[in-house]
Amino acid sequence: MLLVFVELCRYPLGMTGGQIQDEDISASSQWSESTAARFGRLDLDNGDGDGAWCPDIMSGPDGLKEYLQVDLRSLHFITLVGTQGRHADGMGNEFAQRYRIKYSRDGSNWVGWQDRKGRQVIEGNKNAYDVVLKDLEPPIIARFVRFMPVTDHSMIVCMRVELYGCEWLDGLISYSIPDGHQMIYRGLDVYFNDSVNDGASGLGQLTDGTWGLDDFLHSHIYGMWPGYDYVGWNNKSLPKGYAEMIFEFDHVRNFTSMKVHCNNMFSRGVRMFRQATCYFRSGSDWEADPVTFRPTVDRVSQGARFITVSLGDRTASAIKCRFHFSDLWMLFSEVAFQSGKMVSTLLLGDDPTHKVDESNTRILIGCLVAIIAILMTIIVIILWRQVWQKMLEKASRRLLDDELTARLAVQTQAFSSNHSSLSSESGSTSNSTYERIFPLCSDYQEPSRLIRKLPEFAQSTEHLGPSTSCRALATSVSDGAPHYAEADIISLQESSDSSTYSIAAVNMNLFAGTDSSMREFPREKLTFKEKLGEGQFGEVHLCEAEGMQDFLDEDLSLEGNRDSPLLVAVKTLREDANKNARNDFLKEIRIMSRLRDPNIVHLLAVCVDTDPLCMITEYMENGDLNQFLCNLKLNEAADEDRKDQEENEGESMISSGMKYLSSLNFVHRDLATRNCLVGKNYTIKIADFGMSRNLYRGDYYRIQGRAVLPIRWMSWESILLGKFTMASDVWAFGVTLWEIVTLCKKQPYSQLSDEQVIENTGEFFRDQGKQVYLPKPLCCPDSVYNDLMLSCWRRNAKQRPSFQEIHTQINQGTL
Ligand code: AMP
Repeated sequence: MLLVFVELCRYPLGMTGGQIQDEDISASSQWSESTAARFGRLDLDNGDGDGAWCPDIMSGPDGLKEYLQVDLRSLHFITLVGTQGRHADGMGNEFAQRYRIKYSRDGSNWVGWQDRKGRQVIEGNKNAYDVVLKDLEPPIIARFVRFMPVTDHSMIVCMRVELYGCEWLDGLISYSIPDGHQMIYRGLDVYFNDSVNDGASGLGQLTDGTWGLDDFLHSHIYGMWPGYDYVGWNNKSLPKGYAEMIFEFDHVRNFTSMKVHCNNMFSRGVRMFRQATCYFRSGSDWEADPVTFRPTVDRVSQGARFITVSLGDRTASAIKCRFHFSDLWMLFSEVAFQSGKMVSTLLLGDDPTHKVDESNTRILIGCLVAIIAILMTIIVIILWRQVWQKMLEKASRRLLDDELTARLAVQTQAFSSNHSSLSSESGSTSNSTYERIFPLCSDYQEPSRLIRKLPEFAQSTEHLGPSTSCRALATSVSDGAPHYAEADIISLQESSDSSTYSIAAVNMNLFAGTDSSMREFPREKLTFKEKLGEGQFGEVHLCEAEGMQDFLDEDLSLEGNRDSPLLVAVKTLREDANKNARNDFLKEIRIMSRLRDPNIVHLLAVCVDTDPLCMITEYMENGDLNQFLCNLKLNEAADEDRKDQEENEGESMISSGMKYLSSLNFVHRDLATRNCLVGKNYTIKIADFGMSRNLYRGDYYRIQGRAVLPIRWMSWESILLGKFTMASDVWAFGVTLWEIVTLCKKQPYSQLSDEQVIENTGEFFRDQGKQVYLPKPLCCPDSVYNDLMLSCWRRNAKQRPSFQEIHTQINQGTL
């Protein structure tokens, strides 16, 4: 390539089109398999907007280091980048508002890109839909590029990206030139430094694809200083009478010419060079015989121009050129090389200095033909595999759709015909596959049979083998404990002889970075008072914490005398917890430590230095909202006005907490009255972030691994498609509202068995008006049911209200 024309060099480099292979896209971390690096391809058709790269920023100690890396396999001139978020057909809202770019030519030396004013952060997406394109000014020459979202750790970000440019055929990987000098022209400071070369990059203004104007005092880049476009030298400051420059290339090349863009404003003492003398190096030493070139001196035109220096087809991997002054100043804005591949020179033997004998040539040709044949075979195999894989994917997707539709159709018929005779007993007598395996809490079910229809699930059970999968389930059932660790089955996969691990306490660097406020509390200062309850991780105890006030942030206005111990709730990880449960517990700590809102339960401190791991939260003296409402005596509930007002305040507090979570793009995944706690003055706060740690780990085998799901609170798309989003949290909020209004006297859809609940979600999927909604509670105002609850259960997730809207609606008292 002779020169890169920035305006033309804007081709998509293959994230969208698939030319960049999956194995060339990698990342520092990912939330789950379904948000792995290979899904980080920009999607111009926008499709269903699903699949993107989402780093595990919430878990990582330093989200700022997360990156999506693209290997372009060869040097490219990159002029433009495009980014897009993830909307998952209206159900997702993750995008990178800001990001940085790092690049490398060799994969080990990384340079942070910065614009011409030194700014590194690029403004990214404003929503999850639109593609935002950003010109890289200056462009970069690189093989490896990293996109690094800039977040405050609290937001989930997802990215899909594309790079635009063209292949960098010059092969130039770095140059070294004398530092540019400063001119004072009629009292004006004119700087001729190489401003986009920060040293680390090795390339700069001479390869940025931008050429200087005739008048060097001006720049076509707005807002830059006089002389910005040029790198220049003063004759007096270089006593040898020339400026020496060394250009290093990626490999040995056969050079035809070099083009140098020079200023020639001789009225101001600037002229193009008088002579260029170039030396060549293929190995360690410079060759003795240079090429010398003398351009015709132009004493008429002051226009800046390219001068072509003939390099005489010399072979080299480095060129050293001495440009001799013909006036006081010499200014360059661009240098480019034209070279051919070495192989052709050797084969054609047209250069007398590099002739090889005939037999060598034949061997070389033989080798090349063999290599090409092998490469062709590999390419054919890869292509064949890809086509085959795509066909399989399509076929299985079609199969899934058909099967899902067919199954739902059959089930619906059965469901409709049984519907009139449904009773609460029908659930227990039906031969349900959705057995309750959560003995202490019947709100969580295993929707396994339907989900098993999905290919991912089929694969994973095949992999496990029927006996392993049954054994895993049996373990969950028989040990009677409410196992909640999603990876129990996965750990069984890994270790068939033992389902639990004993793990030594690790002093994790858990609170590096933004979590510095979360501190280790000396566990000997905790005095047990009583057991408050039991959750998936272990028991929750009421304790007195001596000296806890010293551990609290200023913004935590917990009551209590500084000297008297504070009452706190201490959640302890069960002793026999396996590795995954332990990691999940630590992740819940990380998540909670980053949440600060009056309607979210506060994590106060932790004990993670030794086992058992504990998290210390504020004590909510009225327990969980479900029990609280359940225990409300009838006469307490009889005062209708007071009850209405309390309900309204409760709804407002929950929606306020959820509004906060949604502002962080944070999906709770398990909103229900059982996961809200009631404190002093009946303040309600959202708790239990056990499920949210698995955001987007919607892989079905994992759900099967977990084997417990709160199906009566889950949206249809969460159950059938494994999609958990803010909109599915809104659905759960509708159910929670229903629980509050009915004072938790009944389970949602109590007349339906678990299987029928899942069949009903199929009706939402089919959308033929046969879906059953939770009924309007007796004392519930029409406006609350019609305008709020039903809107939370809209089939189309995009049409469900946001938490912001719900909160406003409740607080305006329009319901
Ligand atoms: P969890 O493990 O979070 O599901 O908690 C189990 C039970 O312990 C809850 O249902 C509550 O009854 C009780 N509990 C948990 N955290 C607190 C708290 N901060 N204050 C009072 N009770 C709590």
